[in-house]
Amino acid sequence: MAITSVNPATEQTIATFEIDTPEQVEHKLEAAARAQREWRRTDIADRTALLTRIAEVLREGKEEYAQVITAEMGKPIAESRAEIEKCAVTLDYYAEHAPKFLANERVASNASESAIVFDPLGVVLAIMPWNYPFWQFFRFAAPALAAGNAPLLKHANNVPQSALAVEDIVRRAGAPEGLCTTLIIDAKDVAALIDDDRVAAVTLTGSTQVGRIVASQAGKALKKQVLELGGSDPFIVLADADIQEAAKVAVKARFTNVGQSCVNAKRFIVQESVADEFVAAFVDHVSALKVGDPTEDDTNIGPMARGNLRDELHQQVLRTLENGRTVLKLGGAPLDGPGFYYPPTVIDQVEPGDTAFDEETFGPVAAIIRARDVDHAIELANDTEYGLGAALWTQDLDLARRLTRQIDAGAVFVNGMVASDARLPFGGIKASGYGRELGDYGLREFVNIKTVWIG
Ligand code: NDP
Repeated sequence: MAITSVNPATEQTIATFEIDTPEQVEHKLEAAARAQREWRRTDIADRTALLTRIAEVLREGKEEYAQVITAEMGKPIAESRAEIEKCAVTLDYYAEHAPKFLANERVASNASESAIVFDPLGVVLAIMPWNYPFWQFFRFAAPALAAGNAPLLKHANNVPQSALAVEDIVRRAGAPEGLCTTLIIDAKDVAALIDDDRVAAVTLTGSTQVGRIVASQAGKALKKQVLELGGSDPFIVLADADIQEAAKVAVKARFTNVGQSCVNAKRFIVQESVADEFVAAFVDHVSALKVGDPTEDDTNIGPMARGNLRDELHQQVLRTLENGRTVLKLGGAPLDGPGFYYPPTVIDQVEPGDTAFDEETFGPVAAIIRARDVDHAIELANDTEYGLGAALWTQDLDLARRLTRQIDAGAVFVNGMVASDARLPFGGIKASGYGRELGDYGLREFVNIKTVWIG
């Protein structure tokens, strides 16, 4: 059996890889467990030195790695370069701050000495998606390695070149043999890994559907898990907002990564009195996006990552439009010719009950929803099974601070767009998953918070 890497801009197969045999998987698992037992005893300074070196290898090879991403999943090349840089910045962040996050904490008790120490959990299975094939892995791996864990990667099967590249990068940075391993396996073989005693914990970034499967398997095996799943983030624009600026940022918030990010804004909830002005400015900016070859520096919208993802998105658009009330402003049908291209699409007058409101749209489709007033806007924002991020636009910062507490999401960004940042925790509630990545909270997910009591 083999898995293939297909260029979504041309639909040509660019590489084929054999699936690991059961013997290879066993060998990799054993090597990971062995390497982790040694790694957990190393000094924190040695671990952070590895992170620094990984960041250097990434920066030295930035162009080459960016091209791997673009060829394999179609991301516009400028965004692929930015992805590599973001990985390096995050590795540098943990290299600097992990010693502080992992330092023993003394706590007064009735012992002569009591403290909290942070031990690693062991080998952590990382089930990762294709949308940010380097970032998704390194944002998990940087704190995991710093804490003394060993990452075992099962990447999405449409990005095998990225999967092997990240393993190679960590090895070239000087990691001990087996410490960071890529498995080339089928999704159906993940269950056995979750069950394996040598795997201590699981992290998944992917769909809510797969989240439910992995959560139940990890729950049955009593393994710690972090789930970073889908989102249908609201982008709320209140009547007093800077409408022109909001419309400009809204375009980036929706169409970055060709709309294939869990924290892309998906539902634009605009107060009725300013909705026409917002829609006009938004559509103007969206019309200016350049659709085309993702290897060109000025391309904004490349192909979607896979043909089936494009087909599913188009079905969602058709279902949203079938009621005769919603209004198609732009796009709305796949582009002809080779490549999985879907044009930037804007649908106005969307309401609860419409597919683009009720379901996550993982591609370049924006739904505009009109709210009667502030309370209605918040009600609409929360009227979703998801709870990942939210953006709120208003010039009244006192109101904004109050509203941030009423929005059911893992993050609320005021007068900006939701984006991950190494310094701030990232993750969701409800069907968007649980647990956090990044910041000190992210690092603490895969540690044993151990109490030490000395009488
Ligand atoms: P999936 O959730 O199917 O894939 C994510 C990862 O899970 C991949 O590594 C995949 O492997 C693996 N996986 C799939 N099935 C299982 C299983 N039964 N047990 C264990 N692991 C499994 O995402 P898709 O690529 O199919 O994308 C579909 C939708 O998922 C998108 O439209 C979007 O809604 C959401 N998504 C969300 C992301 C996020 O950032 N939160 C990222 C990507 C997608 P394999 O590739 O081999 O199937």
